[in-house]
Amino acid sequence: MHILIVEDEEKLARALKKGLEIKGFAVDWLADSEKAKTRILLYRNEYDLIILDLMLPGIDGATITEAVRKENVTTPIVILTARNETEHKVDLLNKGADDYIVKPFSFEELLARINSVLRRPANVHPGVLKVGPLEMDAATRVVRKNGVEVPLTLKEFSLLECFMRQPGEVLPREKLFDHVWDFNSLSWSNVLDVHMKNLRKKLNNDDNDGALFETVRGVGYRLAGEIHE
Ligand code: CA
Repeated sequence: MHILIVEDEEKLARALKKGLEIKGFAVDWLADSEKAKTRILLYRNEYDLIILDLMLPGIDGATITEAVRKENVTTPIVILTARNETEHKVDLLNKGADDYIVKPFSFEELLARINSVLRRPANVHPGVLKVGPLEMDAATRVVRKNGVEVPLTLKEFSLLECFMRQPGEVLPREKLFDHVWDFNSLSWSNVLDVHMKNLRKKLNNDDNDGALFETVRGVGYRLAGEIHE
């Protein structure tokens, strides 16, 4: 597992790098935000996870996240933030972060978040799933809509997988949350809505025009369609 740390506080960065290396991760560290953005774009398949500080000199972590997601980089991103406002956290997730951790944090807490973000669903079935215009290869993590690949983040993929295994069924919010996040994540319900919104946007789902997902008020969501053999 190869991790990129982008953090301008040298002491913290060195401590994280050392701690993660002891846990068996290969770790690169960059302090410069411009260099980090370039590295992420050029070596998009090199890293399994990016730990990105929010407050960096130059471009901040949220802007980097937004920029690389626009370029279809799907590597999981965990943001280190000193701020604690709910609006701000929603904003980070909206820009494409997979999770965030508020400073100061313990190394164990960070490790738990990393493992949570990297966690693949326990029951990955081989083969290609097809529901309506959607096609998903769980092994290669490739999703196509009408044959065109849709780049999804790890969390978006896990969410969609949950729907595609149970098409036509109303999936309660709690069930979706439990499938994609673990108890280490804060269980404020915004996080699910934000990821659903991003997923719908990426799958080009206009609610007025042949909606793929249906919102069942007060319960959860439903993916229209049936599994094709
Ligand atoms: Ca900083």
